[in-house]
Amino acid sequence: MAAETCIFCSIIEKKIPAQIIAESERSIAFKDINPMADFHVLIIPKVHFTGLNELTEELGPYVADMALMAKNLAREFGFADNGYRVVINTGSHAGQSVFHLHMHMLAGRDFSWPPG
Ligand code: AMP
Repeated sequence: MAAETCIFCSIIEKKIPAQIIAESERSIAFKDINPMADFHVLIIPKVHFTGLNELTEELGPYVADMALMAKNLAREFGFADNGYRVVINTGSHAGQSVFHLHMHMLAGRDFSWPPG
């Protein structure tokens, strides 16, 4: 279900390089190319859909797997206790720039609230 022009589908298919740090049957996590924190990874489903607006019940297990991957990475990299932030930008007002669902996972510093 890959989209030919989708950069994240190309990462899933290993057609373009990425610093992959975790992979499961349904999801893959890799370092963001323009990190906003010491630890900044993107967790994406291995099926192409543009974002939360396209989420269906059928796709739910992919999002559950992404959340589980974030939890496991937090434990593995030592952020579970002090905390971390998970963000899904959806649409232009939120600044979404890549239209393949992705969860930002940021850690390693304090984050302000409300976000900018
Ligand atoms: P968003 O603005 O929420 O759509 O986030 C897209 C993110 O993808 C940005 O943080 C970019 O830095 C990141 N990004 C774009 N291309 C790549 C790439 N080839 N490898 C890793 N991260 C990327």
